[in-house]
Amino acid sequence: MKSSSIKSLLEEATLHQELTVSGWVRTFRSNRFIALNDGSTLQNLQCVVDFEKMDPEVLRKINTGAALRVVGEVVPSQGRGQKIELQVSSLQVLGEANPEQYPIQPKKHSMEFLREQAHLRVRTNTFSAVMRVRSALAFAVHQYFTSEGFYYFHAPIITGSDAEGAGEMFRVSVLDPKSPPLTPEGTVDFKEDFFGKETNLTVSGQLEAEAYAMGLGKVYTFGPTFRAENSNTSRHLAEFWMIEPEMAFYDLDANMDLAEDFIQQVIRYILEHCQEDLEFLEKRLLDEEKSKPQTERSDMPLMEKLRFVTDQPFKRVSYTEAIDILKNSKPNKKKKFQYPIEGWGTDLQSEHERYLVEKHFKCPVILFNYPAEIKAFYMRLNEDGKTVRAMDILFPGIGEIVGGSQREERLDVLTDKMKALGIDEKELWWYLDLRRFGTAVHSGFGLGFERLVQFATGMGNIRDVIPFPRTPQNAEF
Ligand code: ATP
Ligand code: MN
Repeated sequence: MKSSSIKSLLEEATLHQELTVSGWVRTFRSNRFIALNDGSTLQNLQCVVDFEKMDPEVLRKINTGAALRVVGEVVPSQGRGQKIELQVSSLQVLGEANPEQYPIQPKKHSMEFLREQAHLRVRTNTFSAVMRVRSALAFAVHQYFTSEGFYYFHAPIITGSDAEGAGEMFRVSVLDPKSPPLTPEGTVDFKEDFFGKETNLTVSGQLEAEAYAMGLGKVYTFGPTFRAENSNTSRHLAEFWMIEPEMAFYDLDANMDLAEDFIQQVIRYILEHCQEDLEFLEKRLLDEEKSKPQTERSDMPLMEKLRFVTDQPFKRVSYTEAIDILKNSKPNKKKKFQYPIEGWGTDLQSEHERYLVEKHFKCPVILFNYPAEIKAFYMRLNEDGKTVRAMDILFPGIGEIVGGSQREERLDVLTDKMKALGIDEKELWWYLDLRRFGTAVHSGFGLGFERLVQFATGMGNIRDVIPFPRTPQNAEF
């Protein structure tokens, strides 16, 4: 009963072989030509039926979306568009799809409509191509780190420390929200909760990865992370997958070298292995661009954009230099930025990041040495006493794709910083232990996997590169 995949059939079937194929009907023309797709490839297999010999009841059930199993002979195709086709000798309708009800008809559907049909949208060319590229990228991530001597580290999903994500975490609790146990002061008594303390879903596996890097040397996480930030943008999800390498004995320069090489290698991998899907996505993007005003169009086709990233070094610029460039930029002088650049010390907004990448440098940019005030407590303080060894990688169309740093390895500097920020040392006793026992220079970064998939596929909205997106007010499916 094993069927051949359409991908392998199209690549290696010999003529006049008899094969069984299963898939879903994309279209059925002239009561004769079935375009069958099984998800193994973008291409459909043309299956030709002889309607005069077929039971009209069965024929009636061959509609877009129906699942079929067909047996037939591989023959040269008469029609254009394909070299071979299947001359069907027997056909079984496994599952019907009533055309009055099945939402995914062979016509152009909007992305918004397809988001409401997230359980069916993978049966379209666009979403199947995106998800195949996503899968290939995930494989390339593991392949890259494994070949570079990293160990795959599973960070906990439920965390007891809220040092990093104050305010934007999802609480994990089994307490009854209607009548939670209360302390004598009248606040919720989390001692009675499942873990005996407040717990949340993780916003990052970094702190735990640091512990493992200081023993395994080089580790990386690749798992789900959660942020309860109410930012309804095309680049933010409430649940997303993050890749976080953490390396003992790496300084900031080594960290930047690794991040750049890593991104270039995984993009090269899909250029090599996902050509057909990328070509399709490139055409899709060109069509979409045509409907945009001239000024908003991207001037580069998708694959050119990917090669643009793999074929040249990223531009490395300090935060201070970037502020100078932005302060003197045309949009800043003409007051075109929504957030004007006042001076040194402010955080960059996505409009500034995109100006640097898309207009000024016209290549991926690594910004480093940010003001300490706008970055997390664990980043290593520079000798100037006011900047930290942070780095962000900025990409065209996306903005920030990577955020990373060299970590503060000096116990006294770290505890001073935590005191100043009001972070409880008792909460992070184990994190401080890493500085008490065998501390060493170390670094790491976080890359949002969906932002990488967005860049690689040219999809405009991050909700369209993850199977079932979680965003504010939306957790259907
Ligand atoms: P942003 O400023 O874009 O919100 P961030 O500074 O909060 O990003 P980090 O905390 O440094 O991001 O997280 C590391 C990486 O994770 C980011 O560079 C980005 O690629 C990704 N990322 C962060 N937040 C989200 C989100 N809500 N949805 C998807 N990816 C995200
Ligand atoms: Mn954020």
